[in-house]
Amino acid sequence: MIHPLPLADSPPPTDDRQHLLDWSPEMLVDWLAEQGQRSFRGKQIWHWIFRQRVTEFSAMSDLPAGLREALETQFVIYRGTVSREENSPDGTEKLLIRLADGGEIECVLLRDGVRRSICVSSQVGCAMGCVFCASGLDGVDRNLTRGEILEQMLRLQGHLPATERLSHIVMMGMGEPLANLDRVLGALDVARSPAGLGISPRRITISTVGLPVAIDRLAKHQVPFNLAVSLHAPNEALRSRLVPINRKVGLAPVMEAADRYFAASGRRLTFEYVLLGDLNDTPACARQLAGLMRGRPVLVNVIPYNPVAGLPYQTPSAARIAEFRAILEGAGVNVQFRQRKGSEIDAACGQLRRNRQAAG
Ligand code: SF4
Repeated sequence: MIHPLPLADSPPPTDDRQHLLDWSPEMLVDWLAEQGQRSFRGKQIWHWIFRQRVTEFSAMSDLPAGLREALETQFVIYRGTVSREENSPDGTEKLLIRLADGGEIECVLLRDGVRRSICVSSQVGCAMGCVFCASGLDGVDRNLTRGEILEQMLRLQGHLPATERLSHIVMMGMGEPLANLDRVLGALDVARSPAGLGISPRRITISTVGLPVAIDRLAKHQVPFNLAVSLHAPNEALRSRLVPINRKVGLAPVMEAADRYFAASGRRLTFEYVLLGDLNDTPACARQLAGLMRGRPVLVNVIPYNPVAGLPYQTPSAARIAEFRAILEGAGVNVQFRQRKGSEIDAACGQLRRNRQAAG
């Protein structure tokens, strides 16, 4: 069952106050000094925002009234507005956020046992052009700021009761995170910091179609985030067809960069494989994929495709899924077939935004 909220008619905020989530703790401390305030006020402010989930400066009751007013004059905590919100009986909640410039992005909260995972966007649209994906249909508009990435996390955290905390972050929403690496890392460094969301980097996954130079830069950051490479095809020709950026990059350089990331981080690699009916779900593809994974410390996540309106791709048959799985498992590949959580609410990235645009 889908429970959509009415579309928001209110225009995006037009005020020119700064987005506080774009600011680093050090920048805030400098600003506080200019106001004649001690540096510990910065810690108090972050605590209110990230731990107490406060969205208004007026609620920060242990700050002096004058400081609360100065903050109100200079900053906003949330800069976007939620233009649509949907939830599914399996506990999945999806938000469509309208940014201050009118762009729209999606983010998702998934409940699975005690896990409270969020899937977060990194760009408005996407330039990678994966043929089966709604997010990339219109190309990329722009990178998100650090604050816009953090705002998604905080808004989704706000959907949890006070007794629950976010446990996992996956940068797998709209956009290619490694094409916006500096801002993604800026946001994730706040997310993993004890003064921020306090989520261990081992519970944070960065997804990529595989941009080798950026993967190497990520390795140099020396934080053991999980890397998930969206493979989707086990050979050069099919991958270039399904993931067009592969024509420029090539499969072997992606695999080599992933190996280097493993060597640098020690984190087991994940490869994502969206299973498309009668396209990349054949026994031959399964055998090639098993060959590609041989000798690598990997988890292969196979995701049966969620159909997207207007695109000609199909969910694979149950028999094909079973055969694909049997071949991989028979070859000793560590494989997981992911549930299609939230499939009733267009939880595949970009679908909600696209449906909203189609509805005008
Ligand atoms: S699947 Fe991911 S990388 Fe590919 S177009 Fe969609 S958002 Fe971009």
